[in-house]
Amino acid sequence: MTTFAELGLSPKLLKALEKTKMQDPTPIQAQAIPHIMKGSDLMGLAQTGTGKTAAFGLPLLHRLLDLGHPPAPKRVRALILAPTRELVNQIAENFMVFTKGTAIKVTMVVGGASLFKQAERLSKGSDVLVATPGRLIDLLERGDVFLDDCGYLVLDEADHMLDMGFIHSLNKIAKHIPVKRQTLLFSATMPKDIETLAATYLRNPVRVQVAPPGKPIERIVQGVYFIPNGDKAKLLETFLKKHPGEQALVFGRTKHGSEKLYKLLASWGFTAGSIHGNKSQNQRDKTLSDFREGKMDVLVATDVAARGIDIPGVRHVYNYDMPNVPENYVHRIGRTARAGAEGTAVAFCAPAEMGELQAIEKMLKKPIPVIGGAPWSAAAVAAAPKPVQGRGGQRPQGSGRPHGAGGKPQGAKPAVRSAVAKPAGAAQPAGGARPPRKSQGALSRGPQRWTS
Ligand code: ADP
Ligand code: MG
Repeated sequence: MTTFAELGLSPKLLKALEKTKMQDPTPIQAQAIPHIMKGSDLMGLAQTGTGKTAAFGLPLLHRLLDLGHPPAPKRVRALILAPTRELVNQIAENFMVFTKGTAIKVTMVVGGASLFKQAERLSKGSDVLVATPGRLIDLLERGDVFLDDCGYLVLDEADHMLDMGFIHSLNKIAKHIPVKRQTLLFSATMPKDIETLAATYLRNPVRVQVAPPGKPIERIVQGVYFIPNGDKAKLLETFLKKHPGEQALVFGRTKHGSEKLYKLLASWGFTAGSIHGNKSQNQRDKTLSDFREGKMDVLVATDVAARGIDIPGVRHVYNYDMPNVPENYVHRIGRTARAGAEGTAVAFCAPAEMGELQAIEKMLKKPIPVIGGAPWSAAAVAAAPKPVQGRGGQRPQGSGRPHGAGGKPQGAKPAVRSAVAKPAGAAQPAGGARPPRKSQGALSRGPQRWTS
């Protein structure tokens, strides 16, 4: 087994690592670090929670430490782009830990915070700048920061950036960065658009992959519960009450729906919170830190707001609304069972969501075990009310921008999975309509089957 010292990292970094729980490199770290230290472009593919931040952070810092002189005013030596404010925060926090006791200057810029203060910090020069694309473009256009000294570009959570129509922003930013640079791309899943992105921005990249992309972490016990929308809140309550004191992350489709659900849960006595695009940065930070510190049991979040956030305590993920992009399923359930812990992931599937379920199972290449209800028949699906916002073609929340070349939510899917389609008329879920699958790690004891 490789150690961080054997990878040849700077003694300063090794010293900083001593004070953390990071004793030995994770597989993606062990594989990626040597290539990055040598200066290669690299594409790193690994599930969420596998330690990708340090996989690029440590070798990048190793190279920057070698320089030995401070960055010029308003200049940046290494740029890390991430899709959300929370992720930028998290990456910056990691870098603060790694650079403790060194002269490396880490700056972060995100939307929703003071532009003036950010400009002021940038004026002194940064070794590492961690940023969301939108805010960085603002600062570039104002002349508050220059990227002509930037020798490193990292695209973290690249697959999520595609969801957000990020290509356009990236094109704009990349024009400011010298072509002669090292570019690194990290992603949990590998949709075609990422290949395209890599072909555009990376040069002869080394490809490092530790587990098939799009494959959820094996330790997560998954299940799907077929339930009409109107009964989902009560079902969630049942699940939450079965696991008192264990932290749960609940995913909603819309900002409004997530807020309503959080308020309902709070009114039922759960210590709950919500994060989504309608909350201010301060509110989101406060909620996240409360959740991380265990002051809160249930967090309701939208995909965009929860992207990549690392909360080791999460034991249960509930897909209250099914994700409309199948890759998001993997990202969502990857919020649990982090760093070796156990986790469960339950999907609540209403008749109108059969298409989403089908798309997810196609991506997983296997069905999700049924733990309650039975798959909806074609007739039930046909009779289902459409969601408030059109599903196919709906813009991911939080993105004010149109989709770039590749930013595409999935189009509407045929609503019924052929394998379980029943003749019209057999509209209601009948227990046993789909034989329970054994030995797939189905939750040992699902809640009572609902009755219609
Ligand atoms: P990813 O970006 O792949 O989702 P993160 O970089 O956010 O993963 O890391 C996930 C968690 O694993 C974090 O809590 C991090 O501190 C922890 N971690 C990372 N590397 C190691 C390591 N080598 N040993 C122990 N824990 C680690
Ligand atoms: Mg990450």
